[in-house]
Formats: sequence, C-alpha cells, structure tokens
Amino acid sequence: MFRELLGGLRATARAMASRPITIQYPEEQRPVPPRARGRHILHRYDNGLEKCIGCELCAGACPVGCIYVQAAANDPAHPVSPGERYAVRYEINLMRCIYCGYCTEACPTEAITMGPRLDLVDYKRERLIATKDDLLEAWSGFTTMSQGVAPGLGRPASQPTPMGAGSPHSGPAGRAPGLRPVIPAASGDPADTPPA
Ligand code: SF4
Ligand code: SF4
Repeated sequence: MFRELLGGLRATARAMASRPITIQYPEEQRPVPPRARGRHILHRYDNGLEKCIGCELCAGACPVGCIYVQAAANDPAHPVSPGERYAVRYEINLMRCIYCGYCTEACPTEAITMGPRLDLVDYKRERLIATKDDLLEAWSGFTTMSQGVAPGLGRPASQPTPMGAGSPHSGPAGRAPGLRPVIPAASGDPADTPPA
C-alpha cells in the first residue's frame, strides 16, 4: 500500500517537473511549416491594387467547386485591380475545400496563395464561407487613404463594398445567409442547389 502511494507520488512529481506538451491555444500557436496549406490569402500589389483580376481560373481548377468568383469591369477612374476586371465577389467554402492548392497553381497573377492559418473552426457554418473581406490581405497604405480612397485607387467610401453588407446576396449581418445560397450550383448535383 505504502509502495503504491510512493509510486503515485513519484509519477506526479515527474509530471510536474516535465515540460507541458499543451499550449495556451489560441493565444499561443504552434509554428506552421512554411509549405503548409492553410486558409487562402488574396494578395495586393504594393500600391494597394488587388492582384485578382476576376478571371475565374481558380474556380475552374477547383476540383470540388468551392470557389465562387463574380467579376465586374474596373472603373478606370478608380480601378480595383490592374486588369480590365476585378473580383467584385470572391468566396471560398472552407468546409468543402480539400486544400489541394490547385487554385493557387491556376492563378495567372499569383493573387491567391495558401496561408499558414490552420484553425478553421467556428460555431456557425456560414462563417466558414470565407468572403473576399476575410481573404484579402490588409494593405498598409489603407490607413493613409483619405475618405476611404487612395489617389487613383480603390472605390469611393460612399460606394458600398461589394462583398459583405453591400452584396445583394448577403444576409442582414453582411454575411451570406447560409451555407447553400452562397455557392451556386457548380456541378449539377442537387445537393449543391440552394434551397428556395
Ligand atoms: S485548395 Fe483546392 S479545393 Fe481548396 S479552393 Fe483551392 S482548388 Fe479548391
Ligand atoms: S484568384 Fe487568380 S485565378 Fe482566381 S479569379 Fe483571381 S486572378 Fe483569376
């Protein structure tokens, strides 16, 4: 009896002296390998223009049809991207994505890459549909913009952001109202068809 008690105390002392293998997630994050394929990032050029030209090649290359791109013509006075068009709406269903990276390979402007964020969890399914606002990298020049517009760039602050709250497809909170309506049917599969 005494020996067992001593053995238990010894095991407890050993555990207390050893380094914990747990971390204080999410405040602490484990290092991610440089080639890990986490949540996507949409990139900008140094001048703030978006690299994405709305060509939809990434959506075409995606084997599971989880990318939705809606392109619009650039306003020459306030171009969003250097091309004729830009992605007015860009969404990725992170629950359907298999993180294969084909979208990044298909992109002609290197606008989309796979980032280091692997914590793809949420309490609501609709929040796992990443919108353009979620994916687009911040631009340091944004803070110097006056009235929301950099000289010759971007969109007037008075013009609603095409993603989120201004989108005709978004819910009242500026998010898509649900999982199904956000990604239109891409495969003809009835499971992809948004509910009425
Ligand atoms: S990583 Fe693969 S599955 Fe995910 S969006 Fe890109 S192409 Fe589609
Ligand atoms: S991310 Fe690249 S491939 Fe996809 S629409 Fe934009 S420019 Fe085209």
